[in-house]
Amino acid sequence: MVVEIFVSIFATKFFILMKMKKKIALFLMVMLAISLTVNAKTEETNMLIGNAEIVKCPYCGQEKELMALVSGNTFGAQLWSDNKRIAPMLPTVSPIQKCPRCKKYYFERKNRHGESKKTSYERGELTFLEWKEAYRQFVSEKICGKDKVDMCFWLIQSYNDYYYRSQNVHKPTKADYAFFVEITLTFINYFDWNQVEHPLLKAELYREAGKMTECGKVLKSIPYKSLEDFEKRIFIDIKKRMSNNDIKVFKFSE
Ligand SMILES: [Zn+2]
Repeated sequence: MVVEIFVSIFATKFFILMKMKKKIALFLMVMLAISLTVNAKTEETNMLIGNAEIVKCPYCGQEKELMALVSGNTFGAQLWSDNKRIAPMLPTVSPIQKCPRCKKYYFERKNRHGESKKTSYERGELTFLEWKEAYRQFVSEKICGKDKVDMCFWLIQSYNDYYYRSQNVHKPTKADYAFFVEITLTFINYFDWNQVEHPLLKAELYREAGKMTECGKVLKSIPYKSLEDFEKRIFIDIKKRMSNNDIKVFKFSE
């Protein structure tokens, strides 16, 4: 069976069977989704857990062990319009970890302390409430630059996880939506869009933040004819939702 799925490009096109010891440090990239043909028959059995990665809290020194994949694949993956990819065979650890002892938050990629002799399935995933707490902590610590951009992007996805991708989908509170709009606009303003040829993600995030005029302007700047077929489908989907004043994240069809 051959399935066709859309996956986002992170830095390179390297998903399948990649060595994941260092993992994907960066979640955000672009919505230059590529059409990837995966042969399910050969990929289905390829997820392999390696020795756990040790991270250490920079505040109190408490260590914890996180899951480390040796290999994985994108079989059965879903890609959402906020660039979130959910791949059951390619699970990732949370880029922000919460210390089990002092409860402070820290960047996983900055606090790695080698490899354990054991394996672990711990991913340290945070709830939306914890993501907000983490953001407040980092703001009080004057987070800036790439860290701030990354953090805003993860918050956008966490908000969408909580309100639209969880089992109990519910209406966002006014306060949370206002917060979502604020971080989304911060992300759009601080992200370096020069590296993105066709900023579909930018248009999409404006739409999710309810900024339909801006969304329309970005779509207008994208030369439709030069898009790949799968990008054209995304373009049309965003435009249709924009016209309906729909602000919800959506899942790409396969
Ligand atoms: Zn700690």
